[in-house]
Amino acid sequence: MVTSDEVRGHTAIHVLKGAVVHVLGRGAKWSASAYSQGIHGGLTVQFDRKPTNEELTRIEEAANQKIMENAPTEIHEMSRSDAEARWGDDIYDLFPLPAELKVVKIFHIPDWNVNTCGKQHCTKTGELGGLMIVKWRYRSNKQLLEISFDVTGINVSG
Ligand SMILES: [Zn+2]
Repeated sequence: MVTSDEVRGHTAIHVLKGAVVHVLGRGAKWSASAYSQGIHGGLTVQFDRKPTNEELTRIEEAANQKIMENAPTEIHEMSRSDAEARWGDDIYDLFPLPAELKVVKIFHIPDWNVNTCGKQHCTKTGELGGLMIVKWRYRSNKQLLEISFDVTGINVSG
């Protein structure tokens, strides 16, 4: 079964986010927004300085390395308190989940990315094939780094 472009585009957000934190550090761990449409997508994270072009190149390389590893992904449906005990506030984005939500779905790429997310995902990162950063900008007044990307590769996962 071939994974749809929608699923690949969405999963790419998680792979890219992991790469952003890998290169820029945990100061970049708060996502302000994310979207994908087919194989195109965007991710915005809070960050306190303008990154260099070289850092963006390394982010793209790190994302592609994680794709080449064909790393397995995990979905956990678990109590919110258990998830917080295991991963702390790493599971959250800037915008809080409703307080009444007691059971959460967690998407996890071990040692790379973890986030509450109820969407459909690739079971292995290799299904993306490749990822290219097509454009980025840093909005210093809001301390936001915006990255637009395309999933470029073919689905190489068996
Ligand atoms: Zn997701």
